[in-house]
Order: sequence, then structure tokens, then C-alpha cells
Amino acid sequence: MRTAALLALAGALVATPALADTTVIHAGAVIVDADSAPRGSSTITVTDGRIVSINDGFAPGPADAKTVDLKTKTIAPGMIDLHVHLTGDPGGDFWKGAVEPDEWDVVVGAKNARLTALAGFTTVREAGSGPASAFSLRRGTAEGFIDGPRIIAAGPSLAIVGGHGDVSGFRPEVNELLDSGFTCTGAVECAEKVRLASQNGADIIKITATGGVLSQQGRGLEAHFTDPEMKSIADTAHSLGLKVMAHAHGARGIEAASRAGIDSIEHGTYLDEAAARAMKANGTVLVPTLMAFKGVTERLGQGIYTPVVEAKIRDVADTARVFMGKALRWGVPIAFGTDAGVFGHGRNAGEFALMVEQGMSHRDAFAAATTNAARVLGMEGQIGRLAPGYSADLIAVDGNPLDDTATLENVGWVMVRGRIID
Ligand SMILES: [Zn+2]
Repeated sequence: MRTAALLALAGALVATPALADTTVIHAGAVIVDADSAPRGSSTITVTDGRIVSINDGFAPGPADAKTVDLKTKTIAPGMIDLHVHLTGDPGGDFWKGAVEPDEWDVVVGAKNARLTALAGFTTVREAGSGPASAFSLRRGTAEGFIDGPRIIAAGPSLAIVGGHGDVSGFRPEVNELLDSGFTCTGAVECAEKVRLASQNGADIIKITATGGVLSQQGRGLEAHFTDPEMKSIADTAHSLGLKVMAHAHGARGIEAASRAGIDSIEHGTYLDEAAARAMKANGTVLVPTLMAFKGVTERLGQGIYTPVVEAKIRDVADTARVFMGKALRWGVPIAFGTDAGVFGHGRNAGEFALMVEQGMSHRDAFAAATTNAARVLGMEGQIGRLAPGYSADLIAVDGNPLDDTATLENVGWVMVRGRIID
């Protein structure tokens, strides 16, 4: 990394045009996208971070190109996780917010960005962080200062006062000190907070539309924002070219968020047929985060969570095993997201087995993490498939992930934007 920076600097000093940086990959098989049959032996040529060509057989590259031998492997598009929290590690210690500065979040995030990329996830959507930590990480991976995926970042999520996403559990004056500045009451203030998030550099607006499991508030898991507040958030975000992702558990909260024009429902735990119908009608995508439920359930009964949180986890455990399957049968569009950070970063691909357990085919689960997820981000022309002009986001695995997504839990080689992460 340092050598590359010095070479770039030297190049700038002598003012010569930069030489194209080309990598040639010899792949045993290639999956260009989730809908197509795998290609056989192929040569993928990558120049300056983009795929230039995919040709049959093993062809030599230009004289100055680097060649990567993956003749025994299958190359597939890098995966996309639409819901991660890079700046956090699992734990029930909610008081961390009072003792750890945002600078520490960036250090934790750099560690997790690398683990995420090594697990084969070349793009992630950061679903809520401190004021600037996720934005700093986003720049860090984009400029190649740190190893990690492309990051689409929300920054702090919008919440109601005292709701999931706001601070609870401390004395009032401490809650106030730790306030992120992104709670809102009423349509006008909520619109203002969306504009503020946009001004600060958010790529996406994250809201906590209902109560949540891991916060210290014990007011249930139903709708938090009013309908006019959610409509204001969705309309304001859309007017700025931003989409809205809503954390939501309760059925009426899911339905209301969908009707308000929110673009994706994160978790969606208690979704019922009426909520599913609203989502289908509005094209609202479900991001099920099944690994989150698995992760928190694994940690029950160890004194990790406070009693209020422990009770909420026990309440959602059963429905978490079936709700995605119901959504699938009701025709709700589903895309891949895990809530990594609630469980250990790097285990993201564990989500596939849980999706398959609830009735999704391996091929559809892979599509959820590639082409479908790219569409949710509005980036279907850049990522999620392998084709000339697309970002060189590649992974190497054994076998065929379209037949068995378990192979995606052992990614052996990763390239993000043309850069090999090892
Ligand atoms: Zn989350």
C-alpha cells in the first residue's frame, strides 16, 4: 500500500501520464451473474479498477500486467451486505457509548472493514454509526488507506426521542449529553434532520421506524414515528436523491413505513400478510438480517444483556426462524443484509444458510447478495455482476455457489475495485 502511494507521488512529481494498472486473472470457472450458467475456463482482464474483458480460455496479458492464477477456482461477483455496523463489535454493554470516543469507533471499524472484505463482501451499506466514523471509513477504503469494502454510509440514524436509535438507560442529563442530534418530532423537524444528514455526507437515510431489541427502551416493537413523520422523511430524502432504510419489527410499523414510501425494511420480524401486501404494492424491499437473530440468541443467559434486552431477544427468537419464509411466499422482494456488528464481523455469509433454511433457493440467495442488492443501492450498472465496465469486485470460491451457497463461507481470494485484499 505504501509503495503504491509513493509510486503515485513519484508519478505526480515527474508529471508523466499514469500507466494503466492491469491485472489478468485466469479462472477455472466464472459466474458472471446469478441468472446465468457458469462459464468455463476464462481470462478476466482488469484495468484501473474496472473489468475490461472476460474471454474464453487462458490468454496471456500485456507485458506489464500482473497475472493471478485461479485455475482451480470459481470466480464470482463480490457480495453485497446491505446492513452492517462496522464501527461496533457484539456486546450488550450499552454504556460503551458513554466511555468510548468516536475515534475509537474508526479503529474498530478499520479492523472490521478488513474482516468483511476478506469474507468476500466487496460492498456494504453502513446502517448507523457515530456522526463521522462511517464516513471516515468510507473514504479510507475508497482511497486505499485501509483494506475494506466499498462503503455506502448512513451516519447516525434518525429516531424518535427515547426510541431505538436514541440514547436510553442513563440519567437524563447523561442521555442528553450522548444525544446524536438526530432525533426528531413532527414532519418539519424530521425533514430538517434528513437535510442535515444529507449535508453531512450521508449516502442513505437510516431511520428506526419501530422499537428495537438491543436498546434499553422497553416500550415494545411497534411503530415509533407517526405516519406524517415517516412520509416527510421519505419525501425529503427522495427529493435529495437519497433512499431510506427503516429498521422495523412490528407489523403495523412495517406497513406504515412501506405506505410512507420507505425503500427498505430492515429485520421485518413480525411482518404479517397485510404488511407484506403493502410492501409488495410499494416495491419495498425486505432485508431480513437473520444472522442478527442467530447472533443475539447465541449470547442469551450469559449476563451479557440487561434484563429488558434479554426479554426482548427471547420474544423474537421463534418468529425469527420463519418470517423470511413467509415474506418469500407472499412475494415480498428480498435482498441480503446481516446486521454484522450484532454478531462478529466476517461471519456475514452465514446468512445464506439461514435464508435457505427458510425456503429460498441457493441461486436466489446469491442473487439477493449480488444483483438484487445492487439494485437496492441503485448501483446495478456498477456492481453485483461481472461485465466489461463494471467495478472489479471479485471473489474466488470452490465449486458452484449457485448450487450451494455454503461455499461462500470460505472465500479464498478477494479483489475490491481492482485491488487484491490479502
Ligand atoms: Zn442494525
